[in-house]
Amino acid sequence: MNLHEYQSKQLFARYGIPVPNGLVASNGAEAADAARKLGGAKWVVKAQVHAGGRGKAGGVKLVDSPEAASEATEKMIGQRLHTHQTGPEGLPIHQVFVEQGSKIDRELYVSLVLNRDKGHVAFIVSPAGGMDIEEVAAHTPEKLIRVNVHPAAGLQDSQCRVMGFGLGLKGDQIKQFTKIAQALYKLYLDTDCSLVEINPLIVTGDKLVALDAKINIEDNALFRQKEIAGWRDASQEDEMERVAAQHELNYVSLDGNIACMVNGAGLAMATMDVIQLHGGSPANFLDVGGGATKERVSTAFNLILSNPKVKAILVNIFGGIVRCDMIAEGIIAAVKDVGVKVPVVVRIEGTNAEQGRKLLSESGLAVIAAKDLTEAAKKVVASAKK
Ligand code: GDP
Ligand code: MN
Repeated sequence: MNLHEYQSKQLFARYGIPVPNGLVASNGAEAADAARKLGGAKWVVKAQVHAGGRGKAGGVKLVDSPEAASEATEKMIGQRLHTHQTGPEGLPIHQVFVEQGSKIDRELYVSLVLNRDKGHVAFIVSPAGGMDIEEVAAHTPEKLIRVNVHPAAGLQDSQCRVMGFGLGLKGDQIKQFTKIAQALYKLYLDTDCSLVEINPLIVTGDKLVALDAKINIEDNALFRQKEIAGWRDASQEDEMERVAAQHELNYVSLDGNIACMVNGAGLAMATMDVIQLHGGSPANFLDVGGGATKERVSTAFNLILSNPKVKAILVNIFGGIVRCDMIAEGIIAAVKDVGVKVPVVVRIEGTNAEQGRKLLSESGLAVIAAKDLTEAAKKVVASAKK
């Protein structure tokens, strides 16, 4: 689960990590009010969406009066922000975060992620902050410093000093950085993060301040992060992926026009590949799981058909744990219930496959049978082109 910047900064503040003073606003009047309450002469108005790259996309505006804060807010609210991280649809802006403006002397990069190879939480820091870290990694990898934290030993002050010197910090700044790094490590563990990123952590005068904040929480740990789970902003998430999650279906929206319904993640990946190999383009990844019941098949059909781009459906089921005749019944019921209007190509194989195929062919429904995956892919690609 992703957090908004203002939520991430709220957690930072709790752990003693310095952040600019800020207030959330959802319209121009609230933004002007926020600016007056915060005081000062310069403010930043920041679109709250679950994506980075806002600065370059017009989602971060520096202003020098409460009126200008109001104006910038009115321009953003209700719009969709398109950054290089959002995809072409962009994300809706419902709130902005108004902060006291900071004078920036240097921009640094700090993040914590799980190093899966080592099984350690790892710091990645760089003196080249404020820009795309992927760019830094690609063009100037020597500017990245990686530090693995041994889970038993915890983060050592000596490791913090190595990072601090690598960031070009001196004297008291090293002490401040050590405090921030220790707090980040504790925050990462306490709140079950999968990512914490500060880009940029700025040097302003002799102080270090987290100017931006990004936190991802591990979904599987949300049951023990009740407060944070309540911060979820469904408006920033893919509606279909959310419905799928409710029904324990693994669903990911894609750009193409051929919907796939498959049992098993590996088979689903292979199905998408074979569709692509034959010149088609998948509209989704959908794994209905091993226990694909009639109800779940129905829900799955509803889900994939709510995408208006879908021109044809490929059902690819391997009956190992599930029986093919039962899946066939599910497909027949779903096609009848849901009123499927696009061609459905079905490939079923495995336990009771013969009975399953017989049920489908006798159902009177316009289901196109295929004997193997290649034939199924060819047929569905042809159907989608009609
Ligand atoms: P992102 O583009 O979504 O990562 O949003 P950021 O919060 O990182 O802001 C983008 C950029 O805007 C930063 O790298 C800064 O250069 C600039 N910026 C943000 N806040 C301030 C501020 O208070 N003062 C100044 N001078 N620049 C800021
Ligand atoms: Mn940033």
